[in-house]
Amino acid sequence: MKPLIVTAALVGSLPQKSQNEFVPITPDELAADARACYEAGAAVVHVHARKPNGENTHDAAIFKEIHDKIKVAAPELIVQISTGGRAGVDFEDRSQGLFFNPEMASLTTSSCNFATSVYENSPQCVESLAKLMLEKNIKPELEIFDTSMILAAKDLLQRGLLKEPLYFNFVMGLKGAQEADCMQLAHLLSMLPEGSEWNISGVGRNQIVTTMLGIALGGHVRVGLEDNIYYSKGVPARNVDLVERVVRLAKEFGREIATPDEARKILHL
Ligand code: ZN
Repeated sequence: MKPLIVTAALVGSLPQKSQNEFVPITPDELAADARACYEAGAAVVHVHARKPNGENTHDAAIFKEIHDKIKVAAPELIVQISTGGRAGVDFEDRSQGLFFNPEMASLTTSSCNFATSVYENSPQCVESLAKLMLEKNIKPELEIFDTSMILAAKDLLQRGLLKEPLYFNFVMGLKGAQEADCMQLAHLLSMLPEGSEWNISGVGRNQIVTTMLGIALGGHVRVGLEDNIYYSKGVPARNVDLVERVVRLAKEFGREIATPDEARKILHL
């Protein structure tokens, strides 16, 4: 099996310090977590931007500060910027973080429901984001919340808006979207274009199960406080704790951990 790419999703749109004091919010906190995760074995960090009060934003200046500070703290790391829609649904908002050329960005290919909201990704917005990433040579991580999103990704590929090999991230166990279940995973895998790479993220207590599946089946793994704020029941996690756990598990399975440069080769960055 190829070396395992570990992505640390340092902070998403939802976690707040009131839930877990270790949630990084400021660019300095994100850079410190990125450095610790890099030292523990992460090759990629996936980041969202927050205002100092914790609110979500796509503000380009904040994204740039986060990106630049991570690059100083851990120059080798791959930085992946979120274009997720919780901080605004329009292309103009969501493309802000792409204008200073991060190596990777997330791209959700279609819409679905979350527990209490609609996750809106209109065909026009998805197409515009994909085009901009293609022009700027930014590798999309295709965020898959349900089966139809793989079909949407294949459609983008057919229309020349994505370049192979595609890189998918299955987000599993989020209320309203697909379940964290090995039969669902088998179905997702059966749909991927030949030569694709895949990553798996489990939400909440599913994270440990999806981590094991990703390691065992030859995929890659995303962990971090965006998806799961607990190390175990009632015990708040730090990002680095979650990365260290994946690395220990992977060693037991005999999977090597990919350095950022090995990840660049695997993903054709
Ligand atoms: Zn995210």
